[in-house]
Amino acid sequence: MERTPELVTLEAAPRSAEGCVNAARPPAGKLVDAQGRNIHYLRVSLTDRCNFRCTYCSPAAHEPPDALLSRAELARLFRLFAALGVRRIRLTGGEPTLRKDVVEIVADAAATPGIEDVAITTNGHRLAELVEPLQAAGLGALNVSLDTLAPERLRGVSGQAARLDRILAGIDAAAGRFRSLKINTVVMPGVNEDEVAALVRYAWDRGALPRFIEQMPFGGGVPVPLSEVRRRLTEAGFTLAPDVFRGWGPARHMRGRDRDGREGLVGFIGAMTENFCEDCNRARIAADGGFQACLGGEDRVQLRDRMRAGDRDEALAEAVAGALGRKAPRHRMEEAGAGLVLLAMRGIGG
Ligand code: SAM
Ligand code: SF4
Repeated sequence: MERTPELVTLEAAPRSAEGCVNAARPPAGKLVDAQGRNIHYLRVSLTDRCNFRCTYCSPAAHEPPDALLSRAELARLFRLFAALGVRRIRLTGGEPTLRKDVVEIVADAAATPGIEDVAITTNGHRLAELVEPLQAAGLGALNVSLDTLAPERLRGVSGQAARLDRILAGIDAAAGRFRSLKINTVVMPGVNEDEVAALVRYAWDRGALPRFIEQMPFGGGVPVPLSEVRRRLTEAGFTLAPDVFRGWGPARHMRGRDRDGREGLVGFIGAMTENFCEDCNRARIAADGGFQACLGGEDRVQLRDRMRAGDRDEALAEAVAGALGRKAPRHRMEEAGAGLVLLAMRGIGG
């Protein structure tokens, strides 16, 4: 019997650009979706649980621990997807660092033949203590969510468990250690729009890439269009010019410079007003093992149940190919208010 994943219990949790290269690459399979897009990038949610309660991230119905993929099941899926052509794995959640075995899972992913890059997205709460073991396990890239530099605002957005000092200490500990360090900010009207310039400077000063994300309709609130973020940066004295840099994800980048001569890239993820589906290269596995070809879609293939029922890898691969074969040209999140049922962000993992 495989052990079910254990989650770290956090006392302060009230309810309220780019590696690891493995020499031995397997012959690359090919995952291609219905629109002919190659899928190289797999996002895996390690848990739907979170110690934060961000207003834009809808509360998930928590899966019981044995519903989550075990470490062994995750490792099997990493191997399967790598053999099918996936080259990059991002671990997310929920809060992935709530899994007690997060470091081991990173090590498994990094050791999977064919996987060139392992990344993690975290709210930063446990980052300071995890930076060293994650680096030793082979983590290549780290995204930390940071919506504000004001402690009270942060609690207003993410709940009472969110402690700015812990997140900032984690970012400081991580700075300079990974191939890529990104700071992700969801821009919310009347909440943190006035901090975009400060967040860019904060990130640049730590060698990190600041990225602004348009809010998607998973929780409460409305998006601030990225055009407004760019307007505010310009107003604050930044010059911005389009840049060709492309990471693995949907972000578009601009090269910025502030009045003091600081320079760097700024990423913009315009999920709502600047649709990025055309060059989608990714697929997702939710915390409960549901394979989802599109973040904004409803079509899911239950890989956990198939594995537990004894399906062989060939059958799993066939099910995955079937889901990709049904993948729509673009997400329909704009219609979410009109009744499209979107799965909770925490379960899918952003
Ligand atoms: N808990 C981790 C964190 O917050 O970084 C990882 C999971 S979180 C779901 C992954 C990313 O999705 C975060 O950067 C978060 O800001 C973003 N996110 C959550 N809800 C969102 C929404 N409604 N629209 C846009 N981005 C969202
Ligand atoms: Fe938790 Fe991340 Fe969702 Fe915030 S965005 S509630 S930190 S999973």
